[in-house]
Amino acid sequence: MKKKIISIISIAIIVCSLLVFAVSCKGADEPVTTYNIWLDIQEDNTVECSQKVDVVNNYGAPIEELKFNVYANAFDKQKPLACAQEEQADFYPDGISYGEFALKSLYGEIKEYEFDFDSNIITVSLNAPLQVGEEISVDMQYTLTLPHTNGRYGFNEKGISLTGFYPMLCAYVNGDWFYDEYSPIGDPYFSDVAKYEVTFNLPSGWEFVSSGKIKQDEENGETIITAKAKDIRDFALILSPTLAKSSIKFDGVEISYLGEKPDTLAYAQKALEVYGKLFGKYAYDTLAIADMPFVAGGMEYGALCVINETLGGATYEEVVAHEIAHQWWYGAVGSNNLTDAWQDEGLTSYATYLYFVNIGNVEYSSLMMSDAYSQFHRFIDIQNSVGESAKGVLGGKLNSFPSNYYYTNITYNKSLIMWKYLQDTLGKDTLTKALQEYYATYKFKIVSPDNLYACLDNSYANASNMMKNWIASV
Ligand SMILES: [Zn+2]
Repeated sequence: MKKKIISIISIAIIVCSLLVFAVSCKGADEPVTTYNIWLDIQEDNTVECSQKVDVVNNYGAPIEELKFNVYANAFDKQKPLACAQEEQADFYPDGISYGEFALKSLYGEIKEYEFDFDSNIITVSLNAPLQVGEEISVDMQYTLTLPHTNGRYGFNEKGISLTGFYPMLCAYVNGDWFYDEYSPIGDPYFSDVAKYEVTFNLPSGWEFVSSGKIKQDEENGETIITAKAKDIRDFALILSPTLAKSSIKFDGVEISYLGEKPDTLAYAQKALEVYGKLFGKYAYDTLAIADMPFVAGGMEYGALCVINETLGGATYEEVVAHEIAHQWWYGAVGSNNLTDAWQDEGLTSYATYLYFVNIGNVEYSSLMMSDAYSQFHRFIDIQNSVGESAKGVLGGKLNSFPSNYYYTNITYNKSLIMWKYLQDTLGKDTLTKALQEYYATYKFKIVSPDNLYACLDNSYANASNMMKNWIASV
């Protein structure tokens, strides 16, 4: 296996030896930032990686440096634990386990680079500012030692979760690379969309799902997979020696599932249908779902969702519908979940509520709403009773939330109540029209709260003032 991977890497490096060149924009062929990643997955839960990123300056201004976020470095033994204290036992099923990100080389026509271990950021200084429309390639090799976790990244008894495993270009926001310290609370990943081609060896007898379209080759008794995707915010790969894989095709979308539940693919199909009609057509031609041991209910990635395998019944269906809704609000329309997590989580929760309304399970949609009300008000009561009035303001840095309990009540429950209030006030059709505009206008972009406000106001005068009152109220 390793031989095959290395030879691909060598060819890629030779072919891409012109590291800086101007490119012309030609409509559909307009260049976009592209990741080529080669993985050699070893039996000892280490992964040898080679990565070439062709960064295209589509940011509207010259760029003097690049910043890559190395989320995998947050699992290093010299770091604080990568989970919240209250979830430690679930996160580390066999006790605390650390990972390691070992950068072996980084090169390109660059001035220098620096890996800041504390911030998890690799800064690449360029020889000259990268002008708008220009492209530069950066190559790097690194070794991952996977931690044993039930979190987003690592291995456990069901398999391997490779998410946020590679140095990922930070999102470019307001003229600069945005990053923040790794937060054990909330979702830490934040990036622009990009094109991906990821090649890896599939261990014998294992199954997998990943972002993107799959091509499988058998060579010298080994299975080599190439996954290609475009316009996704991050690439994810879930592999398992025990779980079965199944798939269906719906409306041109290949939906694949790694797990053992009988109804998952049907839920996924319904979700694509409901959200497609409500907000606009699903943005990708593949969707993957994997059931895994997981410390939370589920997690969204580029055209891929992970669901907590222990869930069942309508709760499981809710999480499947929630993570798929994130493909609209997170995947296609990206917002800054490090400062405004409510923006995609609240809307995703509201979309999930609409999923149950639209499939005719009004009982469950009502239950979702009454749960949000009761949990949020209990949270406020508890805060008041201990003499610490809740800071119920939506937004703020992830690390400013004192606990998952606090984060969940503000970011999910209060946000869902806010969206239901807007629906009741604006009318369902008016609100849906605003969300259709929001999706169509900002698909594959990064939005600020102001962008959302503008779409609301276009459908209903001063609707954003109602939302701002909810956001600022305690
Ligand atoms: Zn979510």
